[in-house]
Amino acid sequence: MEQIWKLIEAADTIGIGGHIRPDGDCVGSCMALYQYIRKVYEKNVHVYLETFSDSFAFLKGIEKIEHDVEQEKVFDLFISLDCGAAERLGFSEYSFLKAKKTINIDHHISNENFGMINHVEAEASSTCEVLFGLMETDRIDKEIAEALYLGIVHDTGVFKHSNTSRKTMEIAGDLIEKGISSSKIIDESFYQKTYMQNQVLGRCLLESIMVLDGKCIVSCINQKIMNFYNASPKDLDGVIDQLRVTKGVEVAVFMYELENRIYKVSMRSNNDVDVSRIAQFFGGGGHVKAAGCTMNGSYYDVINNLTEHIENQLKK
Ligand code: 5GP
Ligand code: MN
Repeated sequence: MEQIWKLIEAADTIGIGGHIRPDGDCVGSCMALYQYIRKVYEKNVHVYLETFSDSFAFLKGIEKIEHDVEQEKVFDLFISLDCGAAERLGFSEYSFLKAKKTINIDHHISNENFGMINHVEAEASSTCEVLFGLMETDRIDKEIAEALYLGIVHDTGVFKHSNTSRKTMEIAGDLIEKGISSSKIIDESFYQKTYMQNQVLGRCLLESIMVLDGKCIVSCINQKIMNFYNASPKDLDGVIDQLRVTKGVEVAVFMYELENRIYKVSMRSNNDVDVSRIAQFFGGGGHVKAAGCTMNGSYYDVINNLTEHIENQLKK
């Protein structure tokens, strides 16, 4: 932990990157560390992320995020946040690999320890929770607290997933004491949906199917339907959560078509099935109860391949 801050102190040029298709924890952790390094170490930092949901736009400094990297630039230090593997960095992997020193801070059980320094806490709810533990609480201001809170709220599904511990709640309490508007962040970044997003959610629920004697629910949306609603992947947040709370379901699977015969798969487990193991088998990763991967083939190929693994685990 001290080593991390020493490297930051010693570096003149610092880059931060998070994972492709950034979620609340990814954006929150990148912005929190960005603000903290600027405030405490008074250093200039570059943050690289793909485009993400407008609902995170309230975070301070969000306009500083860059969407492509300079090929020639060699950073003294590049920090990867919320990524289980280097390729999850997407376009900023290039700068990570070229940097003189690298740090990997994360909470995925599948983390491949791909940095020169690796700080991975698999039991932490979120990368934001990990960062809170690394930061000096007194140096966390309201804006840093908002970013950390956003990440914790999103990765815990508003404090309801099994990764929510006593420590998570205590950290949330500390962040609320920094003067943040807790309910506003929860409503506006998590629950609020556009009319189109609600329609797409409804459509995905309507077309879901139950398999494995009702222990598994599966839904899928193809490109044609996404185009009809003018929906992009970030409009699909929340679909998997609603599928998961279907009574009797052990595992929920949601997928959307990235390109013809290529599907982005999300999985959630309610009890004993380890979906991270299944995702890793298919080249992805994640947590025991929330994981994802990208799969090729027809919709039926993908379902058949996944349900075989789910069924095997349910039998045990
Ligand atoms: P989601 O289903 O929300 O996209 O992802 C659930 C969890 O699995 C997240 O923590 C996410 O980072 C991880 N995850 C999703 N897709 C992939 C993937 O393709 N590779 C890896 N390594 N992790 C993934
Ligand atoms: Mn995360």
